[in-house]
Amino acid sequence: MKRTRVPRSFLYTILVSILLFIAIAVLMNRVQELLQSDVQINLTEIVTQNKDVINSKIELEVNNLDLVARQVVDRISMSENPDQVNVRELFLKYAEEAGDPFLCYSDPEGNALYGDGQEVSIAGRRYFQLAMQGKENISERTISRLNGQDIFVISVPLRYNGEIIGTLQKQYTPDEMYNICSISLFSQQGSMCIINSEGYILISSEHGETYSKESSNYYRMLYLENPTAAKRLEQDLLDGKEGFMEVTIAGEKQFSAYANIEKIHDWYLITSINANAVMPNASIVIKLFFGILSVVVVSLATMMMYHLSLKNKQRMRIEQLAFVDEVTGGNTYTKFTIDVQKLLQTEQRTSYSILAFDIDSFKYINGFYGFEQGDKILKTVYDQYQSQLTEKERIARISADHFVVLLKDVSTERLKTLFCSELSIDGIKVYLSAGLYHLKNNEESLNLVLDKATLISRKAKDQSHKEVFIYSDEVDADINRKEQVKRAIEQALANNEIVAYFQPKVDIDGNKLAAAEALARWITKEGVMISPAEFIPICEKTGIITSIDWTILEQTLQFLRTCIDNHLPCVPISVNFSRHHLRNPDFSQTLRERLEHYQIPGELIEVELTETIIFDNAKSVNNLIHELHDFGVKVSMDDFGSGYSSLHMLQDVDIDTLKIDRGFLQSTENSERQTTIFETIVQMANKLHIQTVVEGVETAEHITLMKQSGASIAQGYFYSKPVDRATFEKLCEGEDLW
Ligand code: C2E
Ligand code: CA
Ligand code: CA
Repeated sequence: MKRTRVPRSFLYTILVSILLFIAIAVLMNRVQELLQSDVQINLTEIVTQNKDVINSKIELEVNNLDLVARQVVDRISMSENPDQVNVRELFLKYAEEAGDPFLCYSDPEGNALYGDGQEVSIAGRRYFQLAMQGKENISERTISRLNGQDIFVISVPLRYNGEIIGTLQKQYTPDEMYNICSISLFSQQGSMCIINSEGYILISSEHGETYSKESSNYYRMLYLENPTAAKRLEQDLLDGKEGFMEVTIAGEKQFSAYANIEKIHDWYLITSINANAVMPNASIVIKLFFGILSVVVVSLATMMMYHLSLKNKQRMRIEQLAFVDEVTGGNTYTKFTIDVQKLLQTEQRTSYSILAFDIDSFKYINGFYGFEQGDKILKTVYDQYQSQLTEKERIARISADHFVVLLKDVSTERLKTLFCSELSIDGIKVYLSAGLYHLKNNEESLNLVLDKATLISRKAKDQSHKEVFIYSDEVDADINRKEQVKRAIEQALANNEIVAYFQPKVDIDGNKLAAAEALARWITKEGVMISPAEFIPICEKTGIITSIDWTILEQTLQFLRTCIDNHLPCVPISVNFSRHHLRNPDFSQTLRERLEHYQIPGELIEVELTETIIFDNAKSVNNLIHELHDFGVKVSMDDFGSGYSSLHMLQDVDIDTLKIDRGFLQSTENSERQTTIFETIVQMANKLHIQTVVEGVETAEHITLMKQSGASIAQGYFYSKPVDRATFEKLCEGEDLW
């Protein structure tokens, strides 16, 4: 049933963390890019400068050789017979003087002569051919015909009288060439190499140590880890373009810039530097930054998660309190309301009914078997119903022993199986009273329909043969009528149509007025008197009875005030108070204020509470009695003997007066037994110093019985019916009517 839902705030946290991370990563990437573009600019500048330096150094070498060529030609022209000069001899002499064995002269046929006298043919060599065409040049890396070693050769033409009479060559080992080309680079952190367009490394600052024989091709070396860069480099060099690249060689990151050395055909300079050498701090800062960032993000996320899980737990606890009933372990009414409202909204086409039921006399079950057993019964009842519900039906305990069920199928058979009005739980017989209300539409207020179902379930209470009572239009009409009566009584109260009548209580020894009871009468505008028997029960049901009681008290107090003011003899007057007042914690305080308002001593007012009120709430009533005693007000137990009370009860509550219900005198059956009980009650009350008032005294026989039993105060038609204020005033004045 329960769906685990990822809380929205949790998703937010994840999202914020991710966004934060991306933002920082983008930022750091940008920083890195900026740093890199700085490196690119610097490195490109360096490679251009280096290229220029190399160009000019090579040019210097070429110029030097040119100078030598001119010196050789000068010697030819200075000799006695220049046209006959043996150039080979002249050259050998020159070379010897210059001490340069690698200087080499070649005649136009390509027969080369070295300074040390060795001879070799270079007729096929390109550098020789170019020089013969008058172009100073430097060769590619070639292999020496003399010793088979790698060499570079600079070759210039020998011009005499505008005619090329041969060439001069100077050869260099790769090391020598490197020394010429080398530039001190980035405090040994950098490296440079010269390659040709096929990628062969011609000169390298690493002297071939890093670049093994296989890797002596630069492209091949790059291809391993950087195929795209290698391709681009190859293309750029073919196009004679300059460029920059970021590559990884043997796992190390390098930045490289490359450019064409224009002075030498097919020579390209590549200057590289280790990334760590250029941005050592940058990479440390970036790593550090990412480290700190990760720690911050992780701790932030942890904190958020912790916070969220705490909140989650709290929410679950609150939900548990609000949604799970601790007695049944099932739904609370709150949960029921939420679920049912959702159901009613989604299932618009389904007609639903609300079943309300409670356990008869549950209070007595609790009192007799204890709360633990009581709770067990509640749980069993809940489980029994829950197990019979379908997916789209719900049940909850509302409070105490009241339950509510939302039903889809309310066919007679279903109700029969579902509602078994008599259950036996642990051997205890439990009776349920249930009322059913068919929802007219799914928009009806849940509280109202529950009220209706509950209302109709009360009807079942009075029935011995239990069935589910269904709320009908008649019930509706009944309720409307009650509502109307309630409004009429409110109106009557406002129009002072509710008036107090007084019925004397007479001391039968001497027929003296001893006290009186104030009783409500409704005298309409038209002068019709409505008896309390007609309106009091409805007032009890609607709760408006409390207003009536206060009105009667008010009129009683006003009457007593007039009596005192007119120096008339006063007798205590009792006022009836309904059970509704017990729920009002300010009851005694309000009563006291009214007495003080009229300056009436408490001894002149007695509060009448019926036997059943006292029986049902002995403890709280006793507290109330003590509060009232504090300001002199006495309490009488009305209708004693009409309910289930026992004489034992008299020990528990400190009442002042016992009003013996008129049923004792009026019943005709078993009169002997009745008389005995009557006598016992009076005697017991006398022993307990509780005054007795006998109600419904209508005949002289009743008086005789009272005298026999020792009862002295009578209230009844024998002396007087309840009378209006003016009549009662006369009775007080001592008019001896009896
Ligand atoms: P109750 O408190 O038991 O009042 C006594 C009732 O017995 C009164 O009926 C009275 O007229 C009637 N009665 C008195 N003597 C005799 C008699 O000799 N024979 C017979 N057959 N009846 C006698 P009433 O005035 O109609 O009041 C009926 C009930 O309405 C009262 O019973 C009381 O429970 C209630 N009631 C009346 N006024 C008030 C009120 O202001 N507040 C509250 N809460 N209840 C009231
Ligand atoms: Ca009474
Ligand atoms: Ca009574």
